[in-house]
Amino acid sequence: MRYQSTRGTAPELDFRDVTLAGLARDGGLYVPVEWPRFTPDQIAGLAGLSYVETAVRVMAPFTAGSLSEAELRELCTQAYGRFSHDAVTPLVQLDHRHFLLELFHGPTLAFKDVALQLLGLFFEKFLKGTSDHLTIVGATSGDTGSAAIDAVAGREGIDIFMLHPNKRVSDVQRRQMTTVLSPNVHNIAIEGSFDDAQAMVKAMFNDADFSARFQVTAVNSINWARLMAQVVYYFYIAVRLGAPNREVAFSVPTGNFGDVFAGYVAARMGLPVAKLIVATNVNDILHRALSSGDYSAGTVTPTAAPSMDIQVSSNFERLLFDLAGRDGAALAEQMRGFEASKAMRLTNAQQEGAAKLFASDRIDAAEMAQAMAWAASRADEILDPHTAIGLAAARRADIATDVPIVTLATAHPAKFGDAVERATGIRPSLPARIGDLFDREERYDVLPATFDAVTGYIAERAKPR
Ligand SMILES: *Cc1c(COP(=O)(O)O)cnc(C)c1O
Repeated sequence: MRYQSTRGTAPELDFRDVTLAGLARDGGLYVPVEWPRFTPDQIAGLAGLSYVETAVRVMAPFTAGSLSEAELRELCTQAYGRFSHDAVTPLVQLDHRHFLLELFHGPTLAFKDVALQLLGLFFEKFLKGTSDHLTIVGATSGDTGSAAIDAVAGREGIDIFMLHPNKRVSDVQRRQMTTVLSPNVHNIAIEGSFDDAQAMVKAMFNDADFSARFQVTAVNSINWARLMAQVVYYFYIAVRLGAPNREVAFSVPTGNFGDVFAGYVAARMGLPVAKLIVATNVNDILHRALSSGDYSAGTVTPTAAPSMDIQVSSNFERLLFDLAGRDGAALAEQMRGFEASKAMRLTNAQQEGAAKLFASDRIDAAEMAQAMAWAASRADEILDPHTAIGLAAARRADIATDVPIVTLATAHPAKFGDAVERATGIRPSLPARIGDLFDREERYDVLPATFDAVTGYIAERAKPR
């Protein structure tokens, strides 16, 4: 498979190079030059397959040319063998039409493990036998950092530098990063905010000097391989609920538009998806964009669902590109306008195209707490705040009553114990496999939030390309 940039001028790459590159050189994001199509018979043929086998069938068209099917199967077996549930992403029924898809059975208890465990193995595989050395630099407000660190700890040819805002992530989130003591893991607490950390990472990617010396890459969802791995569970679950003969709707707690874009890809590949519900919290830029065409960033309001506290959703660019005739030059101009003014209007084609598949909703703190309380009392299920936002939107959605609605459960409730306890009176406990988190040794360095301090630190420790 070949991949093209949404902004039209970066070179086309194969799967291997897209995975190692992350962002395209023209500032755009990579997408496959065409969507592979599955016939109803091929979808029916997924019935009863294990998660790993489903993953191989769904991802093989995207990795063709860079990995053989046997290699892909081996990597999937390794990645998903680390999940604590045999089904990897099990389905739970809440009432006659609402279901939860539990995506948090990986090592760090959030759905990001599903893609990052595999991405870590892709990196290692593609670097093996070369003299290349990869330097991963990222900023995290919590879940991405721990999932990425777990995925690459101890892997050859890779160093990871993860920046988090000092004293502004939860103790569980910090310890999930800082208790990983492998020599290739470097945790940096920045004396500043998440935005400061994020801005510094962007500056590093744009610094010609720095990227000439080091092969820097990204592990956030601008990396195509992450989205690809997430397409799998849409197929896996829809088939269990009756696809290809029955439509299924999904409600997705959304931040950077990565997880829900994977649902869009599944639909483009032929999966009968009735609707994708984009559930946002009060940081509702995506709800405004999809309901009225107004894509304009405000300031971020901190909420109990921090992984959705985002005002600019990187992956939305991939949707706008695909909906408007894949015109890279036109999209580059539209995005330049947005970057200058922090606001843009969707074109009619983009708005009408999105409306065919997407619905959206904005869920405030009270509605989120109600959804948690409903799930606890009616279905005996404890939800984390992100999942509760998804369920609140699912229960309010205007979708034919014979269509099952699957809400993506994106984090284990114990990751956000305080918010869960406030809403339900129940304190969720950490699963036994990470229960000794608070007894483990921590290692991290605190640095001032200046570009020179951070690049100096990294340059001293990273290996040249
Ligand atoms: C990252 C994250 C999200 C948002 O996912 P996107 O792909 O950024 O839309 C939602 N919930 C949790 C728990 C997360 O960690």
